[in-house]
Amino acid sequence: MSLKYISTRGGKELNSIEAIVKGISENGGLYIPTEIPRIDKEIYELKDYDYRELAKYIIGKFFPDFTEEELKNCVEGAYDSKFNDEKIVPIVSKDNANFLELYHGATLAFKDMALSILPYFITTSLKKLNQKEKLVILTATSGDTGKAALEGFKDVEGTEIIVFYPESGVSQIQERQMITQEGNNTHVVGIEGNFDDAQNGVKEAFNNESFKKELKEKGYLLSSANSINIGRLVPQVVYYVYGYINLLKEGRIQEGEKINIVVPTGNFGNILAGYYAKLMGIPIDKLITASNENNVLYDFFSTGIYDRNRELKLTISPSMDILISSNLERLLYKICGDNPNKVKELMGELSEKGRYEIDSEIRENLNDFYGNFSTEEEIEYTIKEVYEKYDYVIDTHTAVAYNVYQKYLKDTGDDKKTLIASTASPFKFTRSVAKALGINVEGKTDFELVYELSDKTGLEIPKNIYKIEDKKIIHKNKCKKDEMKDIIRELLNE
Ligand SMILES: *Cc1c(COP(=O)(O)O)cnc(C)c1O
Repeated sequence: MSLKYISTRGGKELNSIEAIVKGISENGGLYIPTEIPRIDKEIYELKDYDYRELAKYIIGKFFPDFTEEELKNCVEGAYDSKFNDEKIVPIVSKDNANFLELYHGATLAFKDMALSILPYFITTSLKKLNQKEKLVILTATSGDTGKAALEGFKDVEGTEIIVFYPESGVSQIQERQMITQEGNNTHVVGIEGNFDDAQNGVKEAFNNESFKKELKEKGYLLSSANSINIGRLVPQVVYYVYGYINLLKEGRIQEGEKINIVVPTGNFGNILAGYYAKLMGIPIDKLITASNENNVLYDFFSTGIYDRNRELKLTISPSMDILISSNLERLLYKICGDNPNKVKELMGELSEKGRYEIDSEIRENLNDFYGNFSTEEEIEYTIKEVYEKYDYVIDTHTAVAYNVYQKYLKDTGDDKKTLIASTASPFKFTRSVAKALGINVEGKTDFELVYELSDKTGLEIPKNIYKIEDKKIIHKNKCKKDEMKDIIRELLNE
């Protein structure tokens, strides 16, 4: 019996390739595997694997409908010289904290880990399903997903990609990376609104039957590159396994020794992948969810109440400026005892009242998780502190993780070896990082600050943003949040 996929809100089972192509279920639920596969090789055997070999093994467990040959093509196409480190994911250890540097791909954020392989999954799946329609990848972004998806899908046959980003919610570098995107099938639109508006607009398009029918008649099928797609989640499990194995290889931990994981969290995709690694059998103890001042998840873990009725704050860790963490629905399914009706009820409350509460019995199943958050001042202070203590530069998101790691240590005294998901290059959020390190940022563009940050720290400027200020601006579309469907029609008619 090979592994199947079901929606968190119930319905019929699909195989993995159908789940990848659909992205999200008609009933609004997210696809999840009917069970989490276990690691069935000895750790000492996995120790000899490089990143690509490990990826083939782990992904193969989740996606049994791909042949070995197909998986090999996907993995080798994705994790190649686009990454500027031959390990793909290097680990930098500072005392008990081990930074899992997930940002060595084409767009300098961890989204590349999944989005460089998702297009391969999708094109392979389309071929296997013999699908004739062109796939339209709709993506809402808080800044990093958009660029990574554009890079991944550019000029991929049989696809068009449309990215919506909040005009005043991304860094100058992030925006410039997107609006200079090349490729015949790429479209970028700035919306007047925040990330939740963009994400709701995309979800609304997916759930609008008449809109989908209209597109289908024109030969288009919608799919998603957001982390609601299971094809994004699964490749993220790989690096947690890789992280564990490498700590073992370097002698930092003993075989079987438990570690903790800290993840700067927004949509809850990355940390959920860490949870899946634990369920696969990797000795992970606590999953530490680090939030910024948009601390809905912290409240949820400390009270059992999820409440999005609050203003979204724009922070210096913009990729986490989110009030609706979509992937939490996948965790809810699990902690509610695989009960789709309970999930439906809670999600109904969330969309009607913006809030739901879980009872104490369900809450007990959250013991693997710990949540805390960082203020803006704490983020700045942490960047400075880590630089001064270790001569190591971290970005604002990673700083949230490190600060919450310190809070966890203080709260609990639990000083297990810890993997910290390091999610972006400091150059992607240059202004905030430069300011935290004491560089005068007044009156300077982010582009100028890239050079100053490099001069001060001795860090080399990553080649993909070097001279980005001189690149030609290609995408100038703007729209209001209720005009997203119209602009999709327009872009597809061009
Ligand atoms: C997307 C992103 C996050 C949040 O990840 P989720 O999977 O949405 O929780 C954190 N840091 C950076 C730099 C990101 O781009």
